[in-house]
Amino acid sequence: MPNARTRLILQNVILADDVFVAESPKDVCIENGRVTKIAPAHSLAGEAGTRVLPCEGLIAVPGLVDVHVHFREPGATQKEDIASGSRAAAAGGYTSVCCMPNTKPAVDSVATLCAIDQKGRETGMVHVFQTAAMTLGQSGDTLVPLRDMDATTTLCKELTGHGVAGVTEDGRSLMDETLMRQVSILAKELNLPVMDHAEDVSLVGGCMHEGEISAQLGLPGLPSEAEANIVRRDIRLAEETGAHFHLQHISAASSVALIREAKKRLSNLTAETAPHYFALTDSDVVRLGTMAKMNPPVRTEEDRLAIIEGLKDGTIDMIATDHAPHTEAEKAKPMESAPFGIVGLETGFSLGYTRLVRGGYLTLPQLIGKMCAAPSRLIGLPYETIREGMRADIMIFAPKENFVVRSEDFFSKGRNTPFEGETLFGRIRYTVLGGGLSYEYKE
Ligand SMILES: [Zn+2]
Repeated sequence: MPNARTRLILQNVILADDVFVAESPKDVCIENGRVTKIAPAHSLAGEAGTRVLPCEGLIAVPGLVDVHVHFREPGATQKEDIASGSRAAAAGGYTSVCCMPNTKPAVDSVATLCAIDQKGRETGMVHVFQTAAMTLGQSGDTLVPLRDMDATTTLCKELTGHGVAGVTEDGRSLMDETLMRQVSILAKELNLPVMDHAEDVSLVGGCMHEGEISAQLGLPGLPSEAEANIVRRDIRLAEETGAHFHLQHISAASSVALIREAKKRLSNLTAETAPHYFALTDSDVVRLGTMAKMNPPVRTEEDRLAIIEGLKDGTIDMIATDHAPHTEAEKAKPMESAPFGIVGLETGFSLGYTRLVRGGYLTLPQLIGKMCAAPSRLIGLPYETIREGMRADIMIFAPKENFVVRSEDFFSKGRNTPFEGETLFGRIRYTVLGGGLSYEYKE
């Protein structure tokens, strides 16, 4: 757990947020969990008991928020657990994460919610927020006690006013429209977002994007229509029920077009994508095999460019990682039988910074908007820029420093990354959570 008793001074650091990047560096003093003073660079002295962090050439931004991670606890702690996932999140610059409910058992009760909340608080490396499943055991039959779960006094409740960060059947779609409508009406009443993994289960069974490459490889495909069909349904339900629908891990150009159109009429619709959808295509599957097997799958170059366009014009509000660790043995299986998913927490920001900001598609403030301000808004977490009085959840990175992704260095138990060996910019140097250091890069 980070020690918040030491006074910290970020010395000579450039401050940035979702609106601006400062021109001249500052010193930032952090004590008792808050930013207490911001002054010209090198003007704050380090008294005894103060830790001075030299930050020349570094940029400090509000701590990142990931609304889509899988920490695998309870039930699959050989892949990840709340402690290892929390350390991975801190190393990735995140100060808050939302865990998906597809654990074993699924998060469908107050008891399971409380057990996860307890572990998250004990680890204390990141705010661990939990989402509720839609149905008991995610079996698609009976709704969870959402009202009770939302009333539970979790860390999420303390920081957002809600016991859970949202309601989602992630891992699958709830196909039963009557139940989906009931969930939406209740979520609207509770003011919780309905987060949806959009996948038409009548079109599943493949292991990569259905297209030319899957045909060449002779592998069964997952068509873009599987996503678009549910996106269409969810837009209709958002319109009819007034609930806030948040479309998870959008991957296809057709979905981006549907969301763009719907957003002209609806203010209760948001969408996320993940770094792999702007960084990879199905032709990378030839080289990467199961390391590029995820659901939804990475699609064509046309889809990839549509995702970037959606990020640029605001159709896609935010970037989440869908951090999904698996064991090496599972990922060593053939393409058809290996599990879906890749780890993402320790590469997410640097991929966004390298591919989108250095790539000339987004400004740094826009990226901060997608990785902090918008995800905070989605879950009702107060978003604070770095100023005196701010709750000190801060990430500090090196914009000009490049590094090679090495999964052996990951804090996550998962080594399943398609970005192994890739050179990225924007290394995370420090993460501050509640005024204490939750991560510090060591050479
Ligand atoms: Zn999903």
